[in-house]
Amino acid sequence: MSPRIAILPENLTNKIAAGEVVERPASVIKELIENSLDAGATDISVEITAGGRRLIRVTDNGHGMSREDALLSLERHATSKIRSDSDLDGILTLGFRGEALPSIASVSRFCLATREAGSLEGTKITVEGGRVRDVQACGMALGTVISVEQIFFNTPARLKFMKSPETESGHVGDVVSRLAVSRPDAAFCCISDSREMLRVQRSDLQRRLSQVVGKDSAAQLHPVDSCSEYVSVSGFVSGPSLVRSGPQAIYTYINGRFVRDKVVQHAVMQAYRGVIDRGRYPVVALFIQLPAGEVDVNVHPTKHEVRFRRQSAVHDAIQAALEEVLRLSPWLASKPLPLPAQSSPAPTGQAYRERIAAAAQASLALPRREQQYQQPSALPVAVEKKSAPVSELPPHVVTVSEPSVPFQPEQKTPADGYFSSLTVIGQFHSEYILCQSGTDLVIIDQHAASERVAYQRLKQQCLSGGVESQRLLFPETVELSFSEVAAVGRFRPELAGIGFELEPFGGNTLLVSAVPRLAAEKDAIRLVRDILADLAGIGASAAFNDLLDELLARIACHSVVRGVHALEIRQMRELLRSMDETEFAASCPHGRPVSHVVTLAELEKIFKRT
Ligand code: ADP
Ligand code: MG
Repeated sequence: MSPRIAILPENLTNKIAAGEVVERPASVIKELIENSLDAGATDISVEITAGGRRLIRVTDNGHGMSREDALLSLERHATSKIRSDSDLDGILTLGFRGEALPSIASVSRFCLATREAGSLEGTKITVEGGRVRDVQACGMALGTVISVEQIFFNTPARLKFMKSPETESGHVGDVVSRLAVSRPDAAFCCISDSREMLRVQRSDLQRRLSQVVGKDSAAQLHPVDSCSEYVSVSGFVSGPSLVRSGPQAIYTYINGRFVRDKVVQHAVMQAYRGVIDRGRYPVVALFIQLPAGEVDVNVHPTKHEVRFRRQSAVHDAIQAALEEVLRLSPWLASKPLPLPAQSSPAPTGQAYRERIAAAAQASLALPRREQQYQQPSALPVAVEKKSAPVSELPPHVVTVSEPSVPFQPEQKTPADGYFSSLTVIGQFHSEYILCQSGTDLVIIDQHAASERVAYQRLKQQCLSGGVESQRLLFPETVELSFSEVAAVGRFRPELAGIGFELEPFGGNTLLVSAVPRLAAEKDAIRLVRDILADLAGIGASAAFNDLLDELLARIACHSVVRGVHALEIRQMRELLRSMDETEFAASCPHGRPVSHVVTLAELEKIFKRT
């Protein structure tokens, strides 16, 4: 009887390996650029057509290969980067598995042309579906050119998973950007269907970041540089005003390799606790260096994940390095400290400002909200001594805030709904409206309520022909990730339907000419960023409409004042009236409750009257 088990032919094992390494055109480009960088290239250009489906070409000026090495490079487990198992403990190159080239060549029509120094002619090898078809001498510049045509032509299942050309080229742009940030000393260029997506010359990290994340964003970054015996952490981090709705602008590199590691990301987010709102992510480019033996990169074929020998030491070093910078609140140096939104009563306002200024000087990191509402106990002792006694603090620190107009007994208008029928008592902490309804105390979260009203209005507008749009007086540009730009390409008409007029403005820049009217007075650019981040996250097959409610909720959220905001009685009543006018649900668009009722009986129980 013939054995049941057979060793698979190499062609097949390469195809299987390709399943892990070659997920989409962007992953091919990642492997090829990493090879170029390992070969010492200082000038790398990427060209794709149809999102990489038709053609991917990476050209470098690295050290190239001899004819013999070029042939060997296409064999499985053939690498020039390690020789023995002890080398695995100290990997300094980006590659080492010797898998990428044979894997890519097994699922495409592949051509490798390469020339090394000292050789008069280059070698050109053509491979089809993993079989070498032709080997020739060729004339070419020093370096290597790899062309990958018709990727997945022989693996139809994979082909089906390819997204639209715009989406795929978006991913390619993101991969090139990540690698470009990792090596400012090399020049990169990326062309998609003859359109230049990215072109960066050799420079330093700061300039490279401004080319990749945008000049405006880069101007708001603060340097990190911390070195302990074991780990060094350097790079740039953003302050509280430069945030994104997803982690896409967190670039972290371990020993020069881009990683998407949970430990690293957790350390970053821990450092930002209290500095940025929950659900927001900073812009960060961090380079973490540690002895090669301390980190295992051989965890996954794509090498995006790593394992640390001393995980908590690395975590704490990253967190401490970031906290050291954030604690100094470097963003306060260039901007005036935000003062309370509510204008503070005269006698103590000055003292309060002085205290805050002193606190800022003492380099105290203030969590965002506390920048406005500094509790005395959070001030450093040294400042405490110099400053006014606690009793002189303005009423901001007292929990019940006074309405900014003197309280007048409410003049009720004819009630035409539950909310309008409520008697407004006042405002609590500039965040909640307190009302009375018979023997009930009704507490309304003014932010959630305004958001709900805005959301219902937007929904209504959507149903009757489209969200009202407002042209910006001066169109603004916004720099995005390439996936986000690709989302605009896919959903331009739909975006216009919800009030956004966006046009490509070269590379990863967009021109924003109009935004939803309801949100026009707020930070329109931040809204555009958030909406596009949401869109970039959805698959090609998902319809825009699946996400519509979420997007409208986002616009609604941007259209209303966040956090504390003193309201006049008139404004509170207006809000209550609008709540009745809209088809109102008892929750904000995110599902949080809008109002809460405390009955007299409940209060009496608290006060032990019953
Ligand atoms: P690995 O990078 O893990 O070694 P690859 O399959 O990606 O495996 O590449 C195999 C070998 O081919 C590399 O070790 C390297 O010697 C050579 N090689 C690949 N790409 C280039 C390039 N652009 N320039 C010079 N040599 C290259
Ligand atoms: Mg490689």
